[in-house]
Amino acid sequence: MSDNLISTNPINGKVNGVYPKATINEIKAAKIKAKQAFGLWRSSSLEDRIECIRRIKELLINDLEEIIQRVVADTGKVNLEALMSDILPTLEIIKYYEKNAKKILEPQKRKNSLLFFNHQSYVEYKPLGIVAIISPWNFPLQLSLVPAISALLAGNVVLLKPSEITPLVGNLIQEIVIKAKMPANLIQVLQGGADTGEQLIKAEPDKIFFTGSVVTGKKIMAKAAENLIPVELELGGKDPMIVFADANFNRAVEATVYGAFANTGQYCVSIERVYVEESIYNEFVSAVVARTNKLKVGSGLNSDIGAITYPKQLEVIKRHISDAVAKGAELMTEIKQQGNFFSPIVLKDVNHEMLVMQEETFGPVVAIMPFKGEIEAINLANDSDYGLNSSVWSNDLNKAKRVVNKLKVGNNYINDVLKNIGNPDLPFGGVKNSGIAKYHGPEGLHSFSIETAVSINKSRREKEFNFFPYSSKLYNLIKEFILINYSDISLAKKLKGMIKIIFAMIRGEDVR
Ligand code: NAD
Repeated sequence: MSDNLISTNPINGKVNGVYPKATINEIKAAKIKAKQAFGLWRSSSLEDRIECIRRIKELLINDLEEIIQRVVADTGKVNLEALMSDILPTLEIIKYYEKNAKKILEPQKRKNSLLFFNHQSYVEYKPLGIVAIISPWNFPLQLSLVPAISALLAGNVVLLKPSEITPLVGNLIQEIVIKAKMPANLIQVLQGGADTGEQLIKAEPDKIFFTGSVVTGKKIMAKAAENLIPVELELGGKDPMIVFADANFNRAVEATVYGAFANTGQYCVSIERVYVEESIYNEFVSAVVARTNKLKVGSGLNSDIGAITYPKQLEVIKRHISDAVAKGAELMTEIKQQGNFFSPIVLKDVNHEMLVMQEETFGPVVAIMPFKGEIEAINLANDSDYGLNSSVWSNDLNKAKRVVNKLKVGNNYINDVLKNIGNPDLPFGGVKNSGIAKYHGPEGLHSFSIETAVSINKSRREKEFNFFPYSSKLYNLIKEFILINYSDISLAKKLKGMIKIIFAMIRGEDVR
């Protein structure tokens, strides 16, 4: 492993800072410290845990401008994007869990079927232990803090490996944790790249929560499988938007431009494929192009489109555009590049042979094609290896609901884009190559818990009906139970038979 990570400002190329990578010995030591911290934290009250999380919330609010400056310097995004998409959803989820964690984590009563008539049953949620969180660069604060906070609330401790592309924010998170005066070693930040991530998995945490690319997700799952470590994988997307002719036209145009280009298209849920009903197709594309041409590329408070955070991503972006054009797509906006700033691109008349409709572009590119009718729209949207989010546009809500019901994705938004992922009460996670994970909402705390089923038999009799010895009498009784309980006979017959059987079961030993 080399020793340092360098944070470079994508806006001006200046070095923000140099941060040491965690060594193998430091990772091993962190695991030992995490184990000790877990010993205390696991038995802490939920009130104490919430109090810690609240201190993080206060720091985010008190140091808001300073935090935004650092996120911007590390990622090159525009300030509003850091405020609205990194800080705001983090605060939203903290507030939600402050209010709801108790109810989500308390034992949940479960029903008992006839066979368990004298039982009490419930599910309880217990901490897993050490959770390794490995995060990406596109929302380096939110995508590290939200899973970390969720894991802590569920009673776990965290080893966090932020992205090597944004080590300034990794360092910022460590500072926030120290400033929040949380008990020692609840969140330990281990800076580094893929090799550090690999070492972290080798250290055998009790769970891995990963957000990043499909390629890395598969590697992590394979490594985790060696020790059967449970994983949550939040992976990439190639999200479709379907616009029916009866949609609110202007709103859908604005949403296409926003959904495709917000955060310079570096959202896992960016709108990358747009399917527009044939009758409005040309008019729609023209309106999207006109709106796109008004976007301001730059930095600061009055620009819409910031820099590309990871310069290597520009290669993917350019490859997708040139492949599409070579295969017959029409380039509707001008390609302009200055340093890491890249102009937003609209492609018309694309098809599914093109890379831009198959692979995640993760940049300011939107590809649009027409469709005829509901079924074709569904088929086109589903013709993808990914299944993260979708956006469906129609003024006929029944039609929109019918369509989303047929889409193979983890999340759907009707008549809006992107921000459904910020609703703290809704679970978030993809299907297909977009991953296997759930967080946010009640699922977001249960994902970080051992879900344990508890059954209490309240009987004081010496024997249960199923205990030994076996006999033909017991055989016949169970057979009668099956015939009566699971077949379609009259209610009167059912009741009569059941009363007899239940008495026999209660008597237990008399059955034999
Ligand atoms: P990436 O997969 O390159 O890296 C993500 C993290 O994994 C980094 O911290 C990296 O150092 C680490 N890593 C890389 N190789 C590793 C290995 N072999 N073992 C352990 N850790 C390893 O992804 P990225 O480029 O940082 O992020 C962009 C991707 O993340 C896009 O595909 C985007 O769609 C996806 N993403 C998904 C979501 C979601 O919620 N589904 C959210 C944001 C981003």
